[in-house]
Amino acid sequence: MAAPRRKHSRARQGKRRAQWKMSTVQLGSCGHCGAAIRSHTVCMNCGYYKGRQVLVVER
Ligand SMILES: [Zn+2]
Repeated sequence: MAAPRRKHSRARQGKRRAQWKMSTVQLGSCGHCGAAIRSHTVCMNCGYYKGRQVLVVER
């Protein structure tokens, strides 16, 4: 396997890691109540997921 010729400098390492950022959470809307929810997640407002009730939300 090919090996790197020389060690990357700390500056180069830092420049690479400076590109590393947090991504914002992807928000969708609940198909039942319209509240903003994270995708592939049960709606914590009405307890629906994929068009059916999976949680009983107590209020
Ligand atoms: Zn909902």
